[in-house]
Amino acid sequence: MDFSYSEEELEVIELVKQVADERLAPRSREIDESGIFSGENFQLLGELGILGVLFPEEFGGTDQGFLTYAMCVEEVSMGDFNTGLTISVHSMAASSILKFGTEAQKQKYLPGAISGKILLAFALSEPDSGSDSASIKCHAEKVDGGYLFNGSKAWVTNAPDADHIVVWATIDPKLAKMGITSFIIEKGTKGMEIGKSELKMGGGGTSTCGITFTDCFVPTENRLGEEGKGLRTALNSLSGGRISVAANATGVSQRAIDESIAYSKKRIQFEVPICEFQGIQWKLADMDTKCEAGRLLYRKAAYLKDQANSDMSKDPIKEASQAKCFATDAGLWICSEAVQIHGGYGYSREYPVERLMRYIKATQIFEGSNEIQRNLIARELLKD
Ligand SMILES: Cc1cc2nc3c(=O)[nH]c(=O)nc-3n(C[C@H](O)[C@H](O)[C@H](O)COP(=O)(O)OP(=O)(O)OC[C@H]3O[C@@H](n4cnc5c(N)ncnc54)[C@H](O)[C@@H]3O)c2cc1C
Repeated sequence: MDFSYSEEELEVIELVKQVADERLAPRSREIDESGIFSGENFQLLGELGILGVLFPEEFGGTDQGFLTYAMCVEEVSMGDFNTGLTISVHSMAASSILKFGTEAQKQKYLPGAISGKILLAFALSEPDSGSDSASIKCHAEKVDGGYLFNGSKAWVTNAPDADHIVVWATIDPKLAKMGITSFIIEKGTKGMEIGKSELKMGGGGTSTCGITFTDCFVPTENRLGEEGKGLRTALNSLSGGRISVAANATGVSQRAIDESIAYSKKRIQFEVPICEFQGIQWKLADMDTKCEAGRLLYRKAAYLKDQANSDMSKDPIKEASQAKCFATDAGLWICSEAVQIHGGYGYSREYPVERLMRYIKATQIFEGSNEIQRNLIARELLKD
């Protein structure tokens, strides 16, 4: 594995670090507590070219690959995890269009998605279908000139603010997973209704909603990829999404560690800063070691994703799941230790660590729960 970076890659990481520090972090608490999506942060990242690192130059991107992209997600998440999650979901939907879209679809949606003018969402989950994504019931019945959607989606991050949503549905429930097909549905399409935002444990700066379709007509030109190939589209996009979630969790973990180091140096008990106690030092040592291990796992998976390029048979499924599973499990533990180091103040909203802990719990659940990641890892280990 080659983790050396070109000058341009280092420049973009430095830029993201600076933006996260100076522009995202100062408003992170306000955004989380207001429960309002920060379109401003998203647009800023678009204007600075950060949303384009994963995409070819012909659509306005810089084509710097998955490793650079994932490192950007880590830096953004360190400043503001809500923005990290927003760009992670947005980029996963945009990557589906890049990989499986027609030339016309790419020309129509990607330049706006890269410049931050178009926000995308990714709608796979349903009220009765989460881990078992092959069991989705949302029906896209084939009609003259397109498809008539009836059914519902659940837990769609960015849904109320998204301009377009990549949606998975079945063209015929009798075909089971062979009927699953993906579509791009535009905001305001008649028959599509966005539900109210879920009241969540954390991540207040992203909206997560259900969507209901009632006789919603979607033209054939908005089908993404071939009929019946939607599960393949979803799984390929999710492997990238999992690396991105691992990077998101690593950024949050690093923030928790930085906060803990700073606090332990200034909090005095028994007449010395608490960082002088070996009990606190060992916590910091283990927190940092686990964070670094998660970082290396996501970077390895991202490196392999770049090597696989568009060859789906080389998609690093096991490595993406390992990174997601480890970095998010470690992340919850790290954030919990950060609260512990802050003592009673850690449990108070005055300090950011309780907010990091509430948010990071979700990373063990979305993009496929960590139980499902373990199933995927074991399946890869046991296959001939
Ligand atoms: C904040 C947030 C944002 C989200 N954003 C999106 C989004 O943008 N788009 C989207 O499509 N979805 C999104 N989701 C949905 C998310 O992907 C699902 O919640 C997740 O896949 C789990 O599905 P479920 O909630 O239906 O749980 P279930 O599938 O019902 O699982 C319940 C429990 O059973 C376990 N379990 C299930 N099957 C197995 C098995 N075979 N072996 C062992 N254990 C198993 C699970 O791990 C879990 O612990 C989001 C969820 C959250 C919380």
